[in-house]
Amino acid sequence: MTGTVSKSDGRRASLSVVLDDGTIECQVCGHGCRLREGKRGLCGVRVRRGDRLESLVYGRIIAEHIDPIEKKPLFHVLPGSLSYSIATYGCNFRCLHCQNASISQVSRDMDVESSGILRKPEDIVRLALDNTCRSVSYTYVEPTIFYEFAYDCCVAAVDRGLKNVFVSNGYMTETIAKELAPVLTAINIDLKAFTDDFYRKVCGARLQPVLDNIVRFRELGVWVEVTTLIIPGLNDSTGELTQIASFLAGIDPSIPWHVTGYYPTYKMSGTTAPPPTSEKSLRMARQIGLDRGLHHVYAGNRPGSGGEDTSCPHCGAILISRQGFRVSSSRLKNGKCPDCARDIAGIWS
Ligand code: SF4
Repeated sequence: MTGTVSKSDGRRASLSVVLDDGTIECQVCGHGCRLREGKRGLCGVRVRRGDRLESLVYGRIIAEHIDPIEKKPLFHVLPGSLSYSIATYGCNFRCLHCQNASISQVSRDMDVESSGILRKPEDIVRLALDNTCRSVSYTYVEPTIFYEFAYDCCVAAVDRGLKNVFVSNGYMTETIAKELAPVLTAINIDLKAFTDDFYRKVCGARLQPVLDNIVRFRELGVWVEVTTLIIPGLNDSTGELTQIASFLAGIDPSIPWHVTGYYPTYKMSGTTAPPPTSEKSLRMARQIGLDRGLHHVYAGNRPGSGGEDTSCPHCGAILISRQGFRVSSSRLKNGKCPDCARDIAGIWS
């Protein structure tokens, strides 16, 4: 390896290093794309120009919505609050069942450099405040691929008292995780399965970097929740779900685990696709998590199926009741159970 590491200049340049063979390696995510002049990385939104890599989507917002934070899903971060949620084009995964493929799956010749609405970080913060949001969410696609803009927004948001949350596949490099952590309140990481085979075949990625980042963000003091979309026949065996639950419980049993229901979509649709996840399967996954010692396991995407409420892990009292993404009541008092005074893990104020 030769040359110096090129760090973000706060706007366009990406973390990268020049290699002996003249390529430039992107060091933003676990793919480590090695690029020659004019070529884009796997995410489709990062290009080599001269001796550096540039983000093609800095400030180019393709989706922005005011969402309940429960929609991320984050159930232990300011419950019932609104989060200003943004995305650009692009993603570093190729999930066959992507629910946002129209904005995430970018061909390498697509004109993304003039896409969307051009916003500055201070615009995002102002819009969040004007709409009574308490946080900014970087979501819908993998936010690591628009890291330079997300980071600048995070800094601006912290300055104005807002929290920042990532909804992520957890594939960023250690360097990025460490730089981001001081301005990030919470992250929901998709743990899509517990086999490298699934990650390679279904997502075009690998498992280990995701596991590493779940551990890493906890160590860095960022609040972590984890989501697993249960896909019949692909990741729903008792053995695999037990492995996931045991892995999380081994880090910290207070990590909330969201098991959510899949619907056929994008390339995982048609007659050969797995059927939608049954309620029985979600209940089973939730029970496995509880049996392995996790304190908070939520069954999502199926309102009314139960399993969306937050209970005290000590006395069992229901503390926060939810209907889908709506908090219908909360008895939490200063982050404690009002019945037994047990501290409930989370970011409550
Ligand atoms: S961020 Fe994009 S260019 Fe960089 S390593 Fe990941 S996929 Fe490749």
